[in-house]
Amino acid sequence: MKRTDYCGRIDRRYLGQDVTVMGWVHRRRDHGGVIFIDLRDREGLVQIVSDPDRAATFEVAERLRNEYCIAVTGRVRPRPEGTVNPNLRSGEIEILAKSIEILNASATPPFQLDDENLSETVRLSHRVIDLRRPLMQQNLMLRYRAATAARRYLDDHGFIDIETPVLYKSTPEGAREFLVPSRLHHGQFYALPQSPQLFKQMLMIAGFDRYYQIVKCFRDEDTRADRQPEFTQIDIEASFLGELEIRELMEGLVRAMFRDAIGVELQKPFPVMSYADAMRDYGSDKPDLRVPLKLTELTDVMRGVDFKVFRAAAELPSGRVAALCVPGGGSMTRKELDDYVALAPTYGAKGLAYIKVNDATKASEEGLQSPIVKFLAPDTLRTILERTGAANGDVVFFCADRASIVNDTLGALRARIGHDRGLVEPGWRPLWIADFPMFEQDEATGAWMARHHPFTAPKDEHAESFVTDPAHALAKAYDVVMNGWEIGGGSVRIHRPDVQARVFEALGIGEEDQRRKFGFLLDALQYGAPPHGGIAFGLDRIVALMAGADSIRDVIAFPKTQRGQDLLVDAPAPATEQQLRDLHIRVRSSDAHL
Ligand code: ASP
Repeated sequence: MKRTDYCGRIDRRYLGQDVTVMGWVHRRRDHGGVIFIDLRDREGLVQIVSDPDRAATFEVAERLRNEYCIAVTGRVRPRPEGTVNPNLRSGEIEILAKSIEILNASATPPFQLDDENLSETVRLSHRVIDLRRPLMQQNLMLRYRAATAARRYLDDHGFIDIETPVLYKSTPEGAREFLVPSRLHHGQFYALPQSPQLFKQMLMIAGFDRYYQIVKCFRDEDTRADRQPEFTQIDIEASFLGELEIRELMEGLVRAMFRDAIGVELQKPFPVMSYADAMRDYGSDKPDLRVPLKLTELTDVMRGVDFKVFRAAAELPSGRVAALCVPGGGSMTRKELDDYVALAPTYGAKGLAYIKVNDATKASEEGLQSPIVKFLAPDTLRTILERTGAANGDVVFFCADRASIVNDTLGALRARIGHDRGLVEPGWRPLWIADFPMFEQDEATGAWMARHHPFTAPKDEHAESFVTDPAHALAKAYDVVMNGWEIGGGSVRIHRPDVQARVFEALGIGEEDQRRKFGFLLDALQYGAPPHGGIAFGLDRIVALMAGADSIRDVIAFPKTQRGQDLLVDAPAPATEQQLRDLHIRVRSSDAHL
C-alpha cells in the first residue's frame, strides 16, 4: 500500500479517484450506521466515511479510537450539500473508505488534542502528543520556513555556514555559563558557548569573509520570563563592511524572512532611532511602536520647584522626571489608576503621581485634579500641559527617580496601558536602535561593564575618549526591534589588538586576565585582522512573533520549563556514583556552606 498524498491535501483535484492516506484518528463519530473519521496528518484533516455496506471495513472503523494510526484507501467524492467545510482545504470532499488498516493502536491520549486549557506541565510532560496538535505542527513548520528563508538569503549573499565548537571555555561575556567537566583532564571544565562570538570573529581573521550559522547558544540564566537555557541564534559575521552596510544587509534578511515565512512585506527602510532618543521618548531600548504614546521630559522643568519629590529627582546627577499622557485616560476608574500606580514598585520606583485633566485652560486646582497640583506653581503646571499636549479628559502620569527607574517604570506603563486600552495599532513595526553607549555602570559597585560585549568597537569619534570618559562613549552597536521585542543585536568589532586591550582595561580586566581568558583572540588580532562586524538574531523570538505565540516554548519542539527542566525526558537528573568518579567530581550536600 502506497500513500497517495497527505490527508490535508486531498481536495477537488482528486474527485472520483481512489486515494490512500495515512495518519491519526483525530475524531470518530458514529452517526447511526455511518461512521465518520477525521483523519489527521501534518498537512491537515480529511473526512473519511465508512458505511456498513462494506462489512469488513466497517468492522475496523468501529474499533477505531482517537490517535490510532491508520491507513485508508477509498474513493474521493463530493461532500453532501450543506456539509461543506470552507475552513479546510479538504472541506469540499470526503473519502468513502474501501479498506481501513490499523497500523498501530493508541492508548487513550492524556488529553484531548483540541483542549485549549491544558496546563504547561501537562503539555510538556506529554510533549509528543502535544506536538501532534495542529497549532504546534503549524508553528514548527513556520519555524522551518523562517529558517529556510534565512539560509536562502544568506546563501544568496555569499555567506557560508561553518560550525563552531559546543565544548568551549569559560569567558566572561555576560551571562552565567554551563560547565562540562572533563574526564580526561582532572579538575578541568569546558563551558558551553553563550554565543559563537569569538569563533566567528576568528573565522573573519582566518579569511572566510562571510559566515553564518543557525546555532544553539547556552546561558545559565535565572528563570526569567520567556528565556530558555538553550536557544537558537542566526549568527552572522562579515568582513570589510561598515556599520551602515551591515545594517542594510541584515535588514534585507529580516525582510526576506517575513516575506517568505508569512507573506508580510516590511517597510523599507526600517526607521533608525538612537538609544538616547529611545530612552527619552519610550523609556525602553525596545519600544513597541504600535503603541502611539510617548514619554514627556520634565527634568529641566522640575529643577528648583518647591515640590521636593520632583525636585530631588530632577537634581540628582542620574535623575529624571518624566510624564506619560494618556489621551482619554480620565475615564479610568479609581481602581484602574490605583492598579497602575501599584505597578511602580515592580520597577523599583517608589510611586507614581497622576493628574486628571478636567479643563486644560485652567492650570490650577480648578482644572486639574490631583493631590500634587497644590504643590506645583501655575507656570510649572502650564509647562506640563504644553509639553504633554494634555487635553480635557486626559490623565498624565509622573515618575521621578533615577533615570533608569523612571525609564523602566514609564516604559512598562506605556506598553501596559497601550494594550489595556486597545491602543495597539495592527501590523509590524520594525526598528533599528543604534548609537548604544559603549559601557554601563554597575550601580552597586560603580564598575564599568560592556553594554553589548567587550569586542564591540567604539564610534570613531570616541575611539580615544572612551578610556577617559567611559560614561559618554558610544559604540558601533545596533539592535533590531520588532513590535516591542528585541529580535537581533550586533556590532562592528574591534579589529586592532591595542584597542581591544584598552577596552579590556577600561572594563577592569587586567593584563594577566586578558592573556588567560582572551589570549587566543589578542594573538589572532595580531595577524592582519580585517575590519569586521556582525549580528545575531533570536530565531525563537522571531518565530514566536510570526506565530503570535505567547511564549517561545510554543515554537521550540522540546523546550525546557521556566525552571530549566525537560519534563518529557526528565532532565536534569542525578548522575551515578560511577559517572561522578569518572569525572573526578563529588556532589556537595546542599548544606555544604555550613
Ligand atoms: N554574539 C552577540 C550576542 O549573542 C551578537 C553579536 O554581537 O553578533 O548577543
